[in-house]
Amino acid sequence: MTETRIPSEKLAAQLSAASIFRDVDLAAIAAELGESRTMSVDVGNVLLDPKQINADIFVVLGGELLVCLEPRVVNPLVRLAVGDCVGELSIIDTSPPSAYVVAAVETELLAIPKPVFWQMLTLQPAMALNLLHVLTRRIRENNVVLLGSLELQREYRNKAETDALTGLQNRAWFEDVFPKQLELCERTGQNASLLMVDIDHFKAVNDQYGHQSGDEALRHIGMMLRRSLRATDLCARYGGEEMIVLMPGTEIAQARLVADRLRENIAATSLVLQDGRTLTLKVSGGLSQWQAGCRLVDLIHAADQALYRAKEGGRNQIAMSYLPAVLGR
Ligand code: GH3
Ligand code: MG
Ligand code: MG
Repeated sequence: MTETRIPSEKLAAQLSAASIFRDVDLAAIAAELGESRTMSVDVGNVLLDPKQINADIFVVLGGELLVCLEPRVVNPLVRLAVGDCVGELSIIDTSPPSAYVVAAVETELLAIPKPVFWQMLTLQPAMALNLLHVLTRRIRENNVVLLGSLELQREYRNKAETDALTGLQNRAWFEDVFPKQLELCERTGQNASLLMVDIDHFKAVNDQYGHQSGDEALRHIGMMLRRSLRATDLCARYGGEEMIVLMPGTEIAQARLVADRLRENIAATSLVLQDGRTLTLKVSGGLSQWQAGCRLVDLIHAADQALYRAKEGGRNQIAMSYLPAVLGR
């Protein structure tokens, strides 16, 4: 960085184009401009650093600055062109800058020290109004940046929690959400039932129709599940061709009706594959009923055992497991 003190007249033309000096009588603040300094920042150099308190407001006289989250020119959040200013928050409080400000090209600046700037405001109230405009613009820019990053975060979270093939929630989601739902059931004294669904002879579907058609079949089952379940039921792809459903507020007898209806709907709804062939899928299900104090892992284990019995019993059916404490009640 190089710095030189220069007379205020030399700046007049550049300053009259700057937002902070709009409608300002520069002659009335000539002395204060004289106490300011022009400086230049080389391309890539950092002007403001969140680790260092800043005590100046800078007006861009030439070149371009970038507001970045890293101390280098990468993914700029905001661009500051000729006539813009930066560091205006430092004029109001003493917190360090919230991001890095880096020169995109060699940039000429006017640096006005904080007390000098306040003196200018006293002499030229139009500058206070200009400062408000600058701050408003900055808040709006920040809101846009914030909303954009929230959106991105939501998108990433959705991607991380959704199974790309079926569109159902994935295992990571269910491992996070199911225990929380069970805690809620515990607090509110609600029932809950768990259903494991497994497609019958799915290996044969892949063997006979090809893996692509197998994928289509999985998407179809995902759609049937979403269509058959209530908004309060939580459903995820457990793995392979197995799906898991937690039904809060549902006793096992009632869950059985839901599961049977789902199973019947699946068996009754043929899937027309992309190549025109038709495929009818069947599923088996295992149910278990949650009770206070029961861990998710035990609930899943019980539903798995029931599923095993449903398969053993000839498939295309639902079986139920009662946890010992439920039986003992
Ligand atoms: P059962 O009735 O006893 O459940 O028999 P099954 O053939 O359905 O069970 P098995 O566990 O033997 O086979 C499951 C098959 O599911 C094997 C595996 O290749 C297939 N599979 C798992 N994930 C996918 C997938 O994402 N796409 C496709 N196309 N197939 C999958
Ligand atoms: Mg399976
Ligand atoms: Mg299977």
